[in-house]
Amino acid sequence: MNEVSAEVVICTKCRLSDTRTKAVPGEGSFAAKVIFVGEAPGEQEDLQGRPFVGAAGKLLTELLASIGLRREDVFITNIVKCRPPKNRPPRKDETFKCKPYLERQISLIAPYVICPMGNSAIHSLLESEQSVTELHGMPLRIGHVTYFPMYHPAAALYTFQLRKVLEEDFKKLRALLDSRAG
Ligand code: URA
Ligand code: SF4
Repeated sequence: MNEVSAEVVICTKCRLSDTRTKAVPGEGSFAAKVIFVGEAPGEQEDLQGRPFVGAAGKLLTELLASIGLRREDVFITNIVKCRPPKNRPPRKDETFKCKPYLERQISLIAPYVICPMGNSAIHSLLESEQSVTELHGMPLRIGHVTYFPMYHPAAALYTFQLRKVLEEDFKKLRALLDSRAG
């Protein structure tokens, strides 16, 4: 796992390496039962080299705490590891070039559950065109892994309604993890 991170921080496979400050491999437990996957690093993440450390990250940390999890109990990362300029969504070729890092992280951790947060992560991980509105809060078993799509915490920052949905989905995630305990 440390090798993956070491490769990411010096990676130049796509154009996002030209404009990033720091690449953001992801962080958390290598024995995590659940991996959270966002879209791409934002401004704070790019400066600090750590995932979800801005406003959306604060909400994610609170949502985790609401179901008894600390950031260090789970693994948190993104579809692409470098910040796109002006936070534009990552392009298909960038996602394609970066995806092997995420795939290696997933296979090393071998979690029970993967939570793609928001449409970018859902489309890339589930290879589905369906939207978060259709898929959130519904477990989808593929092989040994259960995917559990969620809204992106950034989407819930300014929309109270979505925040409630996200809180409910975290409770469902708790139940899903409990049902696979042991
Ligand atoms: N938004 C994301 O998708 N990822 C981060 O790491 C931070 C904000
Ligand atoms: Fe490499 Fe991914 Fe960064 Fe592109 S986004 S430079 S593929 S680590």
